[in-house]
Amino acid sequence: METTSTLKITKRDNSKIADVDFNNLAFGSVFTDHMFSVEYVNGQWQQPEIVPYGPISMDPSAKVFHYGQAVFEGMKAFKDDQGDIFLFRPEDNWERINTSSARLAMPELPKEVFMEGLVELLKLDEAWIKAGDGNSLYIRPFHIATQPGVSASPSDRYKFMIILAPAQSYYSGEVSVVFAEKYSRAASGGVGYAKAAGNYAAQFYPTNLAKEEGYQQVIWTDANTHEYLEEAGTMNVFFRVGDKLLTAPTNDTILNGITRKSIIQLAEAAGITVEVRPVAVKEIVEAAQAGELKEIFGVGTAAVVVPFKSFAYKGEDHKLNAPENSYGVQFKKDLNDIQYNRTEDKYGWRV
Ligand code: PMP
Repeated sequence: METTSTLKITKRDNSKIADVDFNNLAFGSVFTDHMFSVEYVNGQWQQPEIVPYGPISMDPSAKVFHYGQAVFEGMKAFKDDQGDIFLFRPEDNWERINTSSARLAMPELPKEVFMEGLVELLKLDEAWIKAGDGNSLYIRPFHIATQPGVSASPSDRYKFMIILAPAQSYYSGEVSVVFAEKYSRAASGGVGYAKAAGNYAAQFYPTNLAKEEGYQQVIWTDANTHEYLEEAGTMNVFFRVGDKLLTAPTNDTILNGITRKSIIQLAEAAGITVEVRPVAVKEIVEAAQAGELKEIFGVGTAAVVVPFKSFAYKGEDHKLNAPENSYGVQFKKDLNDIQYNRTEDKYGWRV
């Protein structure tokens, strides 16, 4: 047993890595040898620990099971051809989990605890990060309410953990989307801007209905009018009309995506006009009819950029043919080049 400052590390005896087929990984289904864990008790974060990956035990009345007091993050580590490891804007994930936690009446996590836990965990399970384009280690930090008792009030005990899953290049296949007309993902004044577990559970049913109709994703519209386009299930969305890019402003119903804000910066640096403003369903349908709508793509940590091949609205399908000089393809390359340390990092995003 070793201790790094206050972090206690208990290593696994034998690594499981030899049993893993790295060429055949279903996303988020295989986890590394270790996990990070820290508890919040009596108003204080306790000693953080890294322990062998495995099940955890909780009281069945723990509040997370009953009231969904749970938030999480999604981030990635990359390895370059020299074997060095990089994170992409990790402080932004730390800030965002605290923003999410505050909305769910959960305590904020100190930056040192998050960063030190993450870095030490990555060092221990470094062999699980494979070099090469498309390979990465998906990082899932999460924060849950563990106090036993089913009274509907905030927990007084919490657990924050980090688990790691090796990931391969994400191929989403051809993605057709449908604009939401009935269901909503988030309401104003609600929790849409938080990475709250329940936001995802609430999307499963309407997304299944869309899948039955042959669409892979829903682009959510504002809950009040369904007239403005917001974001997709786990991605922010950009619309290219002519040579301009449109994307909705992040507000209380839209997650402040790290990929989204990075792409806005890259686009502006490339001289592309980016309009961050409410994007009306009507203008996108009209742009498609006029042949002005060039691309729609979703952006997020998992896939960086996913081009949509069509969108449906009021039962009508509109096909999209990405142009030769696709913005989506270019941004994916630009971001991957920074993430895999293949280019200068002008913005200081690589850590
Ligand atoms: N919107 C939602 C609802 C998401 O879950 C995600 C994934 N975190 C995103 C957008 C994209 O955010 P990021 O670029 O930070 O991964």
